[in-house]
Amino acid sequence: MNSQNPLFIPGPTNIPDTIRKACDMPVIDHRSAAFAEILNPARANVRAVLRSESAEIFLFTATGTAGWEVALTNTLSSGDRVLAVRNGMFSQRWVAMAERLGLDVLVIDVPWGEDIPAERIADALADDNGHAIKAVLATHNETATGVTSDIAAVRAAIDGAGHTALLFVDGVSSIGSMDFRMDDWGIDVAVAGSQKGFMLPSGLAILGFSAKAMAATEEAELNRVFLDVRDMAASYAKGGYPYTPAVGLLNGLRVSSAMLLEEGLANVFARHARIADGVRAAVAAWNLPLCAARPEICSDTVSAIRTPEGFDAGRIVDHAMAKYGVAFGVGLGQLAGKAFRIGHLGSLTDVMTLGGIAAAEMAMSDLGLPIRPGAGVAAAQEVYRADRPVRAAAA
Ligand SMILES: *Cc1c(COP(=O)(O)O)cnc(C)c1O
Repeated sequence: MNSQNPLFIPGPTNIPDTIRKACDMPVIDHRSAAFAEILNPARANVRAVLRSESAEIFLFTATGTAGWEVALTNTLSSGDRVLAVRNGMFSQRWVAMAERLGLDVLVIDVPWGEDIPAERIADALADDNGHAIKAVLATHNETATGVTSDIAAVRAAIDGAGHTALLFVDGVSSIGSMDFRMDDWGIDVAVAGSQKGFMLPSGLAILGFSAKAMAATEEAELNRVFLDVRDMAASYAKGGYPYTPAVGLLNGLRVSSAMLLEEGLANVFARHARIADGVRAAVAAWNLPLCAARPEICSDTVSAIRTPEGFDAGRIVDHAMAKYGVAFGVGLGQLAGKAFRIGHLGSLTDVMTLGGIAAAEMAMSDLGLPIRPGAGVAAAQEVYRADRPVRAAAA
């Protein structure tokens, strides 16, 4: 299918032409000096996007899911205890992976739609006198429910308990779109993927390791081969890769990370916040509830919207695609059939977003939901018209 419509799924996201062209490059010898001219700036730019001075950046030919595995297998040993919060499908999958790897996972369960309860992390760590807990797993932005958690509060809970646990953060659907501070928040491993905030095709797992996490790699005994960061680090030191890299994707990452830095991270975050405000205004005009339990924890990259009891939310997604060629996200896990998702991250403008809101309300009206076409668009327009600088004409 060939459509000019933007996607409104929470990843993969729309790819700007500049980035698509950067990915489409002639084959080069990845053992030549030309490769280092792609790899080194890509890693430096990613470090800046993570807001870290000194993190080791690792780029695997893989996806975000492998990023979780990189974090766990490189720093932990069989039977190690980890503490994880489960508040949606992605945190649930990370817990399931940790269990399958033979870790002893202490799970804090909260209802889907809630954020990470930092006080319960503080309590669990305070009870752990012997420091058996080696790591805390936190999903910054739960893409299934559209909920963002406060990672600074998680760090404060760890520090408040005087605990030595490492802090691993899944930022797959937040990094490059929402405020994320690897150093300020004391994050030991940050996990991202190429196909969300970085506006690339899928195919790269993007990681930052703190010095403490790097030290843990020497002690860790879980099996890892392809995902061993020590092999990566040894090859990076020589400007190369331990195997054949996805050169086009890495060149795309070099360009996309530079684009984020050039727009300015504060501007990128403000753009996402404004676009999200417009989507939330539309949802309120539709009289539909968000999955997020409270306004303060609503995600600026994805909104999960509950549909009325007895109405299969998947029909909205199917119908919007079939009739209007517009993709929305389905409800995942326990939200399947009960919610649909609007992804609003990556390469998006206010005006593109209005198109997505219009498509959603046409689909819902067609299916007999009591939505007045235009109501959500009008509510979002008010948000987008309000109080913002008029961009100066290009000189
Ligand atoms: C998309 C996503 C993942 C999984 O990434 P893949 O690239 O699909 O493996 C993990 N965590 C979160 C929060 C995500 O949004």
